[in-house]
Amino acid sequence: MDRDQCLALDASDPLRALKDEFVLPDGVIYLVGNSLGALPRRTPERMRQAVEDEWGAQLVGGWNHAGWYDQPLTTGDRLAPLIGAGPGQVVVGNTTSIAIFQAVAAALRLRPDRRVIVSEVRNFPTDHYIVQGLTRLLGGGQDRYEVRDLAERRFEDAAVVLLSEVDYRTGARRDMRSITAEAHAAGALIVWDLCHSVGAMEVNVSGDGFAGAAAAEADRGGADFAGADFAVGCTYKYLNAGPGAPAFLYVDPRHQATAENVLSGWHGHAEPFAFEEDFRPAEGIRRFAVSTPHVLSFAALEATLDIWERVDLAQVRAKSMALTSLFIDLVGDALELVSPADPTERGSQVSLRHPDGYPVMRALIDRGVHGDFRAPDILRFGFAPLYIGYADVHDAATTLLEVLDKELWRDPAYATRLAVT
Ligand SMILES: *Cc1c(COP(=O)(O)O)cnc(C)c1O
Repeated sequence: MDRDQCLALDASDPLRALKDEFVLPDGVIYLVGNSLGALPRRTPERMRQAVEDEWGAQLVGGWNHAGWYDQPLTTGDRLAPLIGAGPGQVVVGNTTSIAIFQAVAAALRLRPDRRVIVSEVRNFPTDHYIVQGLTRLLGGGQDRYEVRDLAERRFEDAAVVLLSEVDYRTGARRDMRSITAEAHAAGALIVWDLCHSVGAMEVNVSGDGFAGAAAAEADRGGADFAGADFAVGCTYKYLNAGPGAPAFLYVDPRHQATAENVLSGWHGHAEPFAFEEDFRPAEGIRRFAVSTPHVLSFAALEATLDIWERVDLAQVRAKSMALTSLFIDLVGDALELVSPADPTERGSQVSLRHPDGYPVMRALIDRGVHGDFRAPDILRFGFAPLYIGYADVHDAATTLLEVLDKELWRDPAYATRLAVT
């Protein structure tokens, strides 16, 4: 496909107008939206409002009058449709790492007779590290908890399985529905990490999100939803809520009355301002709130949700598959493809292998094509369908081929490592 054909695809792209919603520096093709999404144009004004009109003008009154206190729930309800959840099922706040801790600990408490946590050693490090820390906290003795690697594929005595739908390194996508069914058949609960799914594709954790609650009830007979027990994810990747934006935690309604938030901070209390001596959990999803919300970061999340409420996720997924396939075709066999070749089996990223991946990526970034590098040898390219077009993909692939053909990456300036790669 040549550049003119790519421009024609951009012209007929149903999502093309959304690119204007984002600030992207001139001369940059930003293929790192799977790590930190781009800045929405409307975000600075929403953050200015939060700082000046809310904090500055209302001072402590902002907790009541600017809706700060309820932000974990109000934004949770707004975010819920993006993962196929309904109102009252998602709470926002903290970070993904903290939400993983909460979800896995809650799942363990719901399966008190089991001691095994299935986790993936090759998952994003924080997921597995959090499970290791939790296991150490629960301590030794006869009732030792143990972490078992997913590779063993044994769920039968597991309390909980923690997995990412999309692998951050390879972009490979798992079948949430069949793995959830497998875990449930073995009596285990499942926590899905949706960091690389949300905003890149349709996700349907509970069946309540797309069709509304009534249709979802009918759906529960076996339609296409995962039936996840818990799900977590961040909002700063494809959702574009900005660096340090709060994470989300989904809790299936069937667990909400019994699941325990072991991080029993005061915002999960039934009456935080009664200042009671003992923790008494709030009803519903609020019990999973922990502490004072990061109000300024919530403002940036609210701004980007204004955009997402106008976006059709089926169009996002279709474009994502087309962009990643186009990139793979254009790169051809110049580099080894690490991601699955079948677009339905990958997320919105393409991972390629090169033994000198680090200097190759530095040379690319110097030429305006921003991807990232994951040790030891993987070049990652994320394609955020809201602001990446077909011509961008064409130009990125052309630049990559030039860097390889002319061995531009051999410049010694590209050999030194920066702190964040
Ligand atoms: C990005 C990412 C995280 C991030 O965790 P933080 O607590 O926000 O640092 C966790 N898990 C996965 C799978 C991720 O991709």
